[in-house]
Amino acid sequence: MNKKIIDHHMHTNYSLDADPKATFKTYVDKAKTLGIERLIFTDHVDFDSPAEIFDTPIDYDLYIKDLNETAKNEQFQLSLGVELGYQPHLKERNKALTEAYPFEFVISSIHFCDGLDLYNGDFFKGKTQKEAYQRYFEICLEAAENYDGYDVFGHLDYIIRYGGYQNRRYNYTDHEETIEKILAAIIKNSKGMEINTSGIRYGLGMVHPTLEIMKAYKRLGGKIVTIGSDAHYTKDYYSGFDEALQLLKDAGFDEVTVFEQRKPKFIKI
Ligand SMILES: [Zn+2]
Ligand SMILES: [Zn+2]
Repeated sequence: MNKKIIDHHMHTNYSLDADPKATFKTYVDKAKTLGIERLIFTDHVDFDSPAEIFDTPIDYDLYIKDLNETAKNEQFQLSLGVELGYQPHLKERNKALTEAYPFEFVISSIHFCDGLDLYNGDFFKGKTQKEAYQRYFEICLEAAENYDGYDVFGHLDYIIRYGGYQNRRYNYTDHEETIEKILAAIIKNSKGMEINTSGIRYGLGMVHPTLEIMKAYKRLGGKIVTIGSDAHYTKDYYSGFDEALQLLKDAGFDEVTVFEQRKPKFIKI
């Protein structure tokens, strides 16, 4: 694999749902074994979270100090990124955070819908599977159309991880109209999509989002795509990249994106 292709999604022990042993240093050590020259850390910030585990804002003065300390004795460029949880009432607050610190890369992710947690199943109560998925995509559409304080849209179709359904897949045609409006809005705002490989580790047998979504994104003119493992353990850093690159090629892409100082650069795949 081209060593310039950077894993754009990873969590350290600053994220409360990550391995307490996963430090900046453990990722740097793993990067050395892979020959990678640059790391982008994207720990969670989910303001006003209904789930306690996410409701711990990061002290970025401390975080940046720790990052710089780690970088001091290494050959590596360590970049400040964030996975910023979106809820409709957080537009200004999220933007203010990204402007207050020198972030190089911002993922916008939806972990909570209508103030309810996807993870604990609250969001799914009283809805059919199709209704829950459709409502989730409508919330993504609101975000894509009305918010631009980010670089890539995180794990679109992440909802299928949750809800406890036997068959978690969905028919693209059931939600096609909404999904294509989401993609069009992302493209119109010059933002990008994330391929998130964690679905493979969650037993879904696929990355997020599906090939159909990435084909539609390409057809509608989408160019910016980052790949991220969403590692919460150092061992998962860069996992699933072969599958993600294959999916990108199958969708018609011949480049992948890396971000530096919030600006996209394109790398041939
Ligand atoms: Zn996420
Ligand atoms: Zn994540």
